[in-house]
Amino acid sequence: MDHENELQRRGLMLVLSSPSGAGKTTLARRLVEIDKDLRISISVTTRAPRQNEVNGRDYHFVSEDVFHSMADSGQFLEHARVFGHFYGTPIQTVKESLSNGSDILFDIDWQGAQQITEHARNDVVKIFVLPPSTDELARRLRTRAQDPKRVLSERMAKAADEITHWPEYDYVIVNEDLEIATNQINNILCAERLRRHRRTGLSRFVERLTKNTP
Ligand code: 5GP
Repeated sequence: MDHENELQRRGLMLVLSSPSGAGKTTLARRLVEIDKDLRISISVTTRAPRQNEVNGRDYHFVSEDVFHSMADSGQFLEHARVFGHFYGTPIQTVKESLSNGSDILFDIDWQGAQQITEHARNDVVKIFVLPPSTDELARRLRTRAQDPKRVLSERMAKAADEITHWPEYDYVIVNEDLEIATNQINNILCAERLRRHRRTGLSRFVERLTKNTP
């Protein structure tokens, strides 16, 4: 009996959003490290790379002209302007990952989360990550020394704005301790993978189980 096939499931799209500095990018990296069925979606952006950021690993860094031509030719699943720069999720890699049976993790803002939900409501799980306090948020943003001061204060001011979108998410995590927050998200992922509507092979599996009952 081909159990693997019968217990097939639909891939899911896990969206992580948060104000800048809540630790979402670190969380995202940890999650894909510990879960081999989870791939991270690498966005395209027009902002300049920060120190230590690698093209193709952290983002695909492109000019505004390239970004707009990609948007015009339908290459993005969603795209948005965030802090004066453009960001977009390439549609092709999402399709490939889902068809290969991988789940996809998106580190995107609330605008992107809304757009993806419009496309694929049943396949999206949205988690909002909050910092433990304003002081901690400010501290984390200050340690990102690469950002010019003006951008930092702008991001701090926008954090409150971003946080107002928390009710649009399925789950909310307070990231005080990276290990705990990672486990919480991992638990959500495990439970969401078991949801009945994602388990496309379940009917056949149960049918066989009931037929084989002695
Ligand atoms: P950063 O410039 O700090 O890497 O990201 C700034 C914000 O843009 C973060 O909230 C991040 O989640 C969001 N972001 C990154 N990539 C995308 C994307 O492809 N689409 C959208 N809508 N937001 C993104």
